[in-house]
Amino acid sequence: MKNHIYIHFPYCLYKCHYCDFNSHARSPQDIPYQKYTETLIKEIDTQIKQEPHRLENKTIHSIYFGGGTPSLMPATFVFNILNTLERHFTFTNKIEITLEANPGTLNKDKLNAFKEAGINRISMGIQSLNDNYLKRFGRIHSAQEAKDAITLLQEVAFPKWSVDLIFGFPNQTNNEWKSDLSYILKTDTNHFSCYALTNEPGTHYTQQIKRGQILPTPDDQLTDMLKLTYELSDKAGFTAYEISNFAKGLNYSEHNLGYWHYENFWGWGAGAWGQSDANNNQGNIFLLRTHNADDPHEYQQQIELTGTRYTEEVDYPTAMFEYVMMGLRLKSGISIPEFNSRFNQGILNVFESGIKFSIEKGWLEHSGDRLMPTFEGFIFNNAMVSSFIQD
Ligand code: SF4
Repeated sequence: MKNHIYIHFPYCLYKCHYCDFNSHARSPQDIPYQKYTETLIKEIDTQIKQEPHRLENKTIHSIYFGGGTPSLMPATFVFNILNTLERHFTFTNKIEITLEANPGTLNKDKLNAFKEAGINRISMGIQSLNDNYLKRFGRIHSAQEAKDAITLLQEVAFPKWSVDLIFGFPNQTNNEWKSDLSYILKTDTNHFSCYALTNEPGTHYTQQIKRGQILPTPDDQLTDMLKLTYELSDKAGFTAYEISNFAKGLNYSEHNLGYWHYENFWGWGAGAWGQSDANNNQGNIFLLRTHNADDPHEYQQQIELTGTRYTEEVDYPTAMFEYVMMGLRLKSGISIPEFNSRFNQGILNVFESGIKFSIEKGWLEHSGDRLMPTFEGFIFNNAMVSSFIQD
């Protein structure tokens, strides 16, 4: 089983209107870079001291700096965090170390400094190439700045980089979405992700919908946009290896594959969560999950006072369902022998009715020793996953 690390940086310059991530808007001079990095390093050191048997010297396959906007961090702090991790863990030769970035927060020197600090993959949050939507949804950058950020990544020849896009802005036409996507497909990138705009509880966007100030894009149009995405990306040589993720060749996101394969994660930083196998020695408990306080100040107090974290025990039935839910997002689907050996139970029995129902609907194929979603299964993923709940 592979092991991964997630590092959360919770600050942004502005809160995007649709964002429900653990991000806190601050002006640049109010972001406590040094204090936050020190707390993070203390958290890592403390947890490893507390649980050496679970953590020390583990082999790590990927590290991901997510946010928030981690590209706001000075590269020296990123270096210090990576240095701390390298003291405790063994990095694989091909370790993927990603940093999320936003246009408008990077220049050539900073990008090179991140590269020197050890970052080998950038995930750039472009979201849209249309100033109208960028402005209306509170993004800090313009379409031109987004294009400049892509040019910069190409000029610096960053080892790997990916782009995040959003479709389904209210009143966005299919042609506008096609134009954004076509631009990205012509760049040098070999990976991109795109997500439909969703109205999550508590966001400014959701409040606007509730007040009747804005109408969300209807579901059938979102489906059309998703189908268009599959069609155009396929023509450009990308594989939809996951519902929302596209790669040329085998340039998959190693870190995200870890989530979809239900592997071990350690998460550090405000609001970060992690999960790792309970090693089957605690009765019905399959894995242990940790979750830090979301609020950066509360997180800091938590680490300074106790260094402890909120821990959730995940039982076998819950873990099996989560495993399937994640696996059904992948084009390659679920390996039957892998499920059976991991849980010591047969997937074809445990989820018999969900599998039968999904195959009858044309959402799932049983091919060799795998259960693989079809194209329709990608489109109707929510319904397919729901059919597994009834088991
Ligand atoms: S930049 Fe990302 S994390 Fe920050 S507010 Fe916008 S969507 Fe949220």
